[in-house]
Amino acid sequence: ADGHFQQDMARLQDSFAGFRQKYRLIKRIGEGTFSTVYKAEDLVYDKHDNSWDMDKELDKWTPPPLRNHTSQSGEILDYTSQSQRRRKPKYVAIKKIYVTSSPNRILNELELLHDLRGCQSVCPLITAFRSTDQVVAILPYFRHADFRDYFREMTIPDMAIYLRSLFTALASVHQHNILHRDIKPTNFLYDPDSRRGVLVDFGLAEREGADGGKHCLCHDDSATRKARLQPLFSAEPKEGYAREDTRPSRRANRAGTRGFRAPEVLFKCTEQTTKIDIWSAGVILLTILSRRFPFFNSADDVEAMIEIATIFGNKRMQGAALLHGCMMETSIPTIGRSGYSLEGIILWSTGRSDKVKISEDEKLAIKFLSRCMELDPTRRISAADALQHDFLRMGLD
Ligand code: ADP
Ligand code: MG
Repeated sequence: ADGHFQQDMARLQDSFAGFRQKYRLIKRIGEGTFSTVYKAEDLVYDKHDNSWDMDKELDKWTPPPLRNHTSQSGEILDYTSQSQRRRKPKYVAIKKIYVTSSPNRILNELELLHDLRGCQSVCPLITAFRSTDQVVAILPYFRHADFRDYFREMTIPDMAIYLRSLFTALASVHQHNILHRDIKPTNFLYDPDSRRGVLVDFGLAEREGADGGKHCLCHDDSATRKARLQPLFSAEPKEGYAREDTRPSRRANRAGTRGFRAPEVLFKCTEQTTKIDIWSAGVILLTILSRRFPFFNSADDVEAMIEIATIFGNKRMQGAALLHGCMMETSIPTIGRSGYSLEGIILWSTGRSDKVKISEDEKLAIKFLSRCMELDPTRRISAADALQHDFLRMGLD
């Protein structure tokens, strides 16, 4: 594996002119489906410049605009206007995006990151290079711990601080009408010592409404929705399907990570909103409160629906399906009609048997959790409102 790594690094260093003069690769820090990430030292870093102070600098960072990079290879951010240049970090994360990733996907990620420059708690893009079909993004290196090493020890106030940081990022991303689509612990880098976090990985992100989605019933008022659902009930079901189902087959964006997908993603809602990220953030909180990672462990979307239905009960899950024009029928015995309370689930997962063991702080956290894991996306709390919630304001005033 080490030899492979050396080879990998050599290839990266050789594909960009001047790379060796600019960066010294230190180690590989991440390997995902779409990229490999390395930690590197910026060699052109000016020692007389004050050292990179993540706390102060991260929020001030303004990368230069994207340069039209269709013709020439090389640095694709425009550094010609030096006045825009800020102090540079000494250590950087170099994200090598796999060539198997489509050019549109790569450009999309870079463009969205560029749009989000200056957003609090969002990892800024320093620059990017392209050499033929190979693209690397340069980000400031952010020190962080592995989620699995700290989530079990988090106190309720720790959780509030962690989530405040995550929701700060989400609020700015959502304000730009951008859906991250892949909120999960490995995409939110958190340093438990400094209690700061940054959101990374906009590889699946998209602008709201970008998929030119067809209208979905979930955005109608309930009377309109009822009227439009009527044919579904009057048609006599045959082998579990509505006979006169004239609905066109559904195509919807289902990108994301198993276990973190919102119900409307599973039900193939054609008009998904930023609320899908709130659900995923809720799953992170549920994971921390229940001390179980991964909390949901489904192999596919149907299993994921079963897991959610087991918690929320068949009745509410069927209601959630209908919101998007889907019928859900199940005879699985473990799915009860009314499910469980989140409090009950958390008590059970942590081996506590009675409610007395739940503190007021924890109750507040669970109340917030229920606002994030609202099955109906239109009723789910927004990131901006979440920041005003008593749980996320814990210890602030
Ligand atoms: P992928 O699309 O492959 O998931 P990510 O952008 O999520 O790529 O990065 C993968 C991993 O690399 C992250 O989970 C994290 O551990 C590490 N990483 C990414 N960006 C940074 C950064 N700026 N600082 C430190 N580590 C990072
Ligand atoms: Mg990732």
